[in-house]
Amino acid sequence: MTFSIHGLAVARGIAIGRAVLVASSRVDVAHYFIAPTQVEAEIDRVRRGRNAVVDEIHRLQASIAHMGPKEAPQELTALLDVHLMLLDDDELIGGVKRWITDRLYNAEWALTTQLEVIARQFDEMEDEYLRERKGDLEQITEKVLRAMKGMGSTVVPPPVRAARKTAQHDLLLDDTVDVPLILVAHDLSPADMLQFKQSVFAGFITDVGGKTSHTAIVARSLDIPAVVGARLSSQLVRQDDWVIIDGDAGVVVVDPSPIILAEYGFKQRQGELDRGRLSRLLHTPAVTLDGQKIELLANIEMPEDAVGALKVGAVGVGLFRSEFLFMGRQGRLPDEEEQYQAYRRAIEGMQGLPVTIRTVDVGADKPLDSSLRDDAHLNPALGLRAIRWSLADPAMFLTQLRAILRAAAYGKAKVMIPMLVHASEIRQTLALLDHARAELDNRGVAYGPLEVGAMIEIPAAALTLKVFLKYFDFLSIGTNDLIQYTLAIDRADESVAHLYDPMHPAVLRLVAGTIAEAQAQGKDVSVCGEMAGDTSLTRLLLGLGLRSFSMHPAQILAVKQEILRADTAKLAPWAQQVLADDEPGYRVGRA
Ligand code: PEP
Ligand code: MG
Repeated sequence: MTFSIHGLAVARGIAIGRAVLVASSRVDVAHYFIAPTQVEAEIDRVRRGRNAVVDEIHRLQASIAHMGPKEAPQELTALLDVHLMLLDDDELIGGVKRWITDRLYNAEWALTTQLEVIARQFDEMEDEYLRERKGDLEQITEKVLRAMKGMGSTVVPPPVRAARKTAQHDLLLDDTVDVPLILVAHDLSPADMLQFKQSVFAGFITDVGGKTSHTAIVARSLDIPAVVGARLSSQLVRQDDWVIIDGDAGVVVVDPSPIILAEYGFKQRQGELDRGRLSRLLHTPAVTLDGQKIELLANIEMPEDAVGALKVGAVGVGLFRSEFLFMGRQGRLPDEEEQYQAYRRAIEGMQGLPVTIRTVDVGADKPLDSSLRDDAHLNPALGLRAIRWSLADPAMFLTQLRAILRAAAYGKAKVMIPMLVHASEIRQTLALLDHARAELDNRGVAYGPLEVGAMIEIPAAALTLKVFLKYFDFLSIGTNDLIQYTLAIDRADESVAHLYDPMHPAVLRLVAGTIAEAQAQGKDVSVCGEMAGDTSLTRLLLGLGLRSFSMHPAQILAVKQEILRADTAKLAPWAQQVLADDEPGYRVGRA
């Protein structure tokens, strides 16, 4: 039966494919396709993993048998019997074999997929005792996964294999391996998302998340259709269901009828044609009708993203979110050499164009590891985040600053500091930067010149710009956080997402004031939050005087199209009217 789930549109486009349900805790399991010749080897890996766990249980049983009747823990004995029974279950091993044979999933992927199928059957059971066996099933699956890890794969994961864009009529007939796959999960951390840069998925859906949550931001950078905040989707969608993601409308259609499939297939092709048309603007300079030259910069997460930035004609990187180098490493932080190499790759990758490296911004919805979500603090978004985290650990911060300084010798580099608010933090940061230079001098290591900028992303910073303009070479407005902190709306919480409004007059006044004051002092100012890549806001930002936009590479050509049609001389007075309005959303047709 066809039904739809409504969420938040975060990454545009239409994706049609089969659902792959993944529990968040198992997201870091590798997902790749194997060659048909590797099927037997993969099945054997699962068999050996399973046997290793069975052997371990037998050993445990034997040691229990040697205990006296008093010490032998009855519950443990019964539990081990249950685990053995589950490991023997045809449904588990037979199902895994089918995923490997029919779909060519790698062993770990097949195992976790079958786990989700059986877990759902357990959920639906009337008998409470049986329902509770789901936990046991999860435990033994984790054990088998761990045992398989020790064995190493005989299969080398192939390079990224993009899911085939299947034509509409094929979809109705083609039920084989090449069908695009859509990931469905309750939640994904930004670090999980990062893995999908190398993945086989054509789109993804999560139950939770806000429009500018970091998970959504990374999804946008992948440029695949995605919907977040689609509540209950991980419960309502079943493994292998056909699903459509409408990334423009934020809608998920489950089990679509042939007519609906045909309609979305048409939309999908239309979207591809539109993108094709936009690519013609690649070499057109970003200049408005009245001759204003606009700088279009890229936001990147990894050094390798520089390639994609150049491909769409970015004239530099306006925001390199360096924290992604620090994530998903089980707490082991990258050392100076590793960071230096990464920053150097980004700088060299941009071939002489400027690269703005933002110092690490972890905390809140960007934990270092998905298993280490910061639930311990009541308000992590107001806690030890970004520069606060860096200043709390000067040795770590100095390591990063030295790495950036060294990489700056290889091109045009800038460094940018997130979440500053106090003058004392500014002075401490700049003193540490001098200290990092002195350390390199002492070591006799070469480094390059570095422009230093601040992010304006806390209202208090926007309201005390004088001190920022005194100390920094440039400013960049982080509207994602500026909106969150101005309106007191958690950017990652879908339940208040409808109140997260870039058009709130308070937000617009802070943005406009920052642009005007920086320009009056002759300092460069850009916007690097998601507002910069939102085409419905391009004209307004131009009217407010903005001349530098930093966004995901995927947005650059669409924003350029808006710029080419704009006349800033006409937009400026209109923008002032919008600014004076108590309900500016109505004026620009957004509310
Ligand atoms: C912002 O806050 O607007 C920003 C660009 O930084 P981040 O999204 O990484 O917090
Ligand atoms: Mg921010």
